[in-house]
Amino acid sequence: MREVRVRFAPSPTGALHIGGVRTALYNFLLARKHQGKMILRIEDTDQNRYVLGAEEYIKEALSWVGIELDEGPDIGGPYAPYRQSERKTIYSEYAKRLIENGHAYYAFDNTEELEAMRNRLKEKKGANPQYDSTTRMEMKNSLTLSKEEVDKRIKAGDHFVIRLKVPASEEVELNDLIRGKVVVHSSQIDDKVLMKSDGMPTYHLANVVDDYLMKISHVIRGEEWLPSAPLHVLTYRYLGWEKEMPAFAHLPLLLKPDGNGKLSKRDADQMGFPIFPLNWTDPKTNELAEGFKERGYLPEALINFLAFLGWNPGTEQELFSVEELISAFELERIGKAGAKFDIQKAKWYNQQYLRAKTDEELARYLLHDLKELGIVCDKEKAASIANALRERITFPSDMIELGRFFFIAPETFDEKIAAKKWNDEAVAVISSLKDEIAIIENLTAEAAASILEQVTARLAIPQGKIMQALRMALTGGASGPDLMITMAILGNHEVSTRLDYALKTLGRK
Ligand code: GLU
Repeated sequence: MREVRVRFAPSPTGALHIGGVRTALYNFLLARKHQGKMILRIEDTDQNRYVLGAEEYIKEALSWVGIELDEGPDIGGPYAPYRQSERKTIYSEYAKRLIENGHAYYAFDNTEELEAMRNRLKEKKGANPQYDSTTRMEMKNSLTLSKEEVDKRIKAGDHFVIRLKVPASEEVELNDLIRGKVVVHSSQIDDKVLMKSDGMPTYHLANVVDDYLMKISHVIRGEEWLPSAPLHVLTYRYLGWEKEMPAFAHLPLLLKPDGNGKLSKRDADQMGFPIFPLNWTDPKTNELAEGFKERGYLPEALINFLAFLGWNPGTEQELFSVEELISAFELERIGKAGAKFDIQKAKWYNQQYLRAKTDEELARYLLHDLKELGIVCDKEKAASIANALRERITFPSDMIELGRFFFIAPETFDEKIAAKKWNDEAVAVISSLKDEIAIIENLTAEAAASILEQVTARLAIPQGKIMQALRMALTGGASGPDLMITMAILGNHEVSTRLDYALKTLGRK
């Protein structure tokens, strides 16, 4: 097998969509699996769509999720430069080669002439009018004008583009590693522009030339590029590179959670989940879109989730470290069908990866959030709180949400519980409990449980009847972590103070 060299080739036209991260990930996994090279190539030949900051964003996003690059714009490499705008001179040479061997031609048609052709054809055929073998001989190009005229126009600085001369009737075939054999009739392909009038290549030419020069072995990219692939096959052929042509793998689309159509930023916004890996401020509107990172997703969880959007290992195992993904990954196991973007699954992965962390690691997130709120807390207490909450969190920030009561005593109480559960029995138990807990020295969870046990036994009140009132008195709320552990973390003094406050505020019925 030839050396695996893959590239992620985004255009810096805005933030990197999460689907782009998946494309980059699949490239990365294949490269690592075969000890190959992962290349970042910035496809910035379309100056009109260039967005400042987008390239930086792409690099930061890849680095955050842990996709390491072997070659790229900043890193360099044997086939530098890796930014297409810096490779401008390379492309015209190949466009000229195509003209010389008769597979491309200069076209001088201006906008009005192109428009007129389209209108003419629309009337005639009603079909999709395009610049191709059926129309090119009616247009102003180096196939219809004399050589002298063409030279004269070029010398005079007339605007021109270079177009690929797509054959009239030929089957163009390619073997996609995911879709199998794809055959397109050349009459479906138009004479695509290869070089624009500004001297810049189009995506089609630059992509083929660079994949060849950079010795790319596999082109792994989104399904939206599949229609362009036959055109690329022709370009490889006409440049004499068919033998070196990379293998193609067009990835299935990412669909909305309900499977109905392609996932867009609008859908994600409406359903309240991110679509970009990191925060992104649109430079035009100044609108901020929250990223997966800032929402609290862990990069390893996101990677695991994304790996499964279109690929599966063929086993029941769902949790894969990056190393495990690398060894299990196979292009052949990517499906053709679109992959539903199930955000609930992404959350599930995040929960799993958070649970795998130690209390001390979780405590670090909590301490960070506490610091922002100006709340002081020692590491040990933070670790105990993290331990109490670990099964209940989806994002690190849930700890401060769910555990706020550990630091701030409730001033108000859950109204429903107060109305339903604050009764004579609850008051009796809570009053005794308060007195007994106040004098105990080291309030462990076990000690709290045994005092509660004794009090309820003495008063002959079943524990189950008063637990909700007790939780409400301590936390203000109706649900939360284990109550005995909660009391141990709060400590005897705080527990009796809170119980006292509840008794005074809610009254002794
Ligand atoms: N520049 C293209 C994009 O933005 C790359 C497509 C490809 O990988 O060939 O998606």
